Amino acid sequence: MSLFQNATYLASAHHLQDLPPPGEPEVAFAGRSNAGKSSAINALAKRTRLAFVSKTPGRTQQINFFLIDARLVFVDLPGYGFARVPPRVQQQWKHLVETYLSTRRNLRGVVIIVDLRRGVEADDAQLLDYLHAHGIPAILVATKADKLAYGARQRRTREVGEALAYPVAALTICSAESGEGMSELWTAITTTLEGTGLSREHR
Ligand code: GDP
Repeated sequence: MSLFQNATYLASAHHLQDLPPPGEPEVAFAGRSNAGKSSAINALAKRTRLAFVSKTPGRTQQINFFLIDARLVFVDLPGYGFARVPPRVQQQWKHLVETYLSTRRNLRGVVIIVDLRRGVEADDAQLLDYLHAHGIPAILVATKADKLAYGARQRRTREVGEALAYPVAALTICSAESGEGMSELWTAITTTLEGTGLSREHR
C-alpha cells in the first residue's frame, strides 16, 4: 500500500532565482550524501506513479520539488558532506539551502535522514542547530535499520535519541530495504504539517 496516491515532479532549482513560487505546504528532506535519503523518499513513494529520481546527474546538486497528492510538496535538498566536492561548490549549496530554509514561508518541517549505524554526525547536528534557531520543526529519521541485529539496533536507537541537543518533532527508525518505519514517517510528516497549520510569518 502506498502512503499517498500520486507524486508529480514540479521543478528543480540550481540557483535561488529558480525556486518555484511558494504554493502548497512543503516538507524538505536533507541528509549526508549516502545516508539513504533517495531510498527513503522512494520507499515512501512506493507504488505511486512517479519514481523519485535518484542520482540523475545534476539533480543531486539542486533542490527538487515534487507535488504529493496535490496537497503538499516534498523538497529534496542536495546531500551534504560530499568529500569530492570542492569547498567553493559546497559553499554555494550551503547558501542555496540556507536561504531556502530561512526564507521559505510555506516550509513546515525538515526530515533529516541519518544512517542508524552512524547516528547524528557533525553536519547533521549543524543542520539541527540551524533549524532550531529558525524555529523549523525537524523530523529525524535513522534509516538502514535492517543492517543491524536486534541488540545493536536497540542500543543505537537509544544513543541517537540521547545525543540530541534539543527535542525533535519526531524520531523514526526505518529501513528503505524492508519498508519498516515508512508509515510512521508518513504519520510524522502529516502530523508536523497539521501542527504547523499557520504559515511561518504568522507563528
Ligand atoms: P542518498 O545519497 O542519501 O540519497 O543515499 P541512497 O538512498 O542513494 O543510499 C545510499 C546507499 O545505501 C545505496 O547503496 C542504497 O541502496 C543503500 N541504502 C539506502 N537505504 C537503505 C536501507 O534502508 N537498507 C539498506 N540495507 N541499504 C540502504
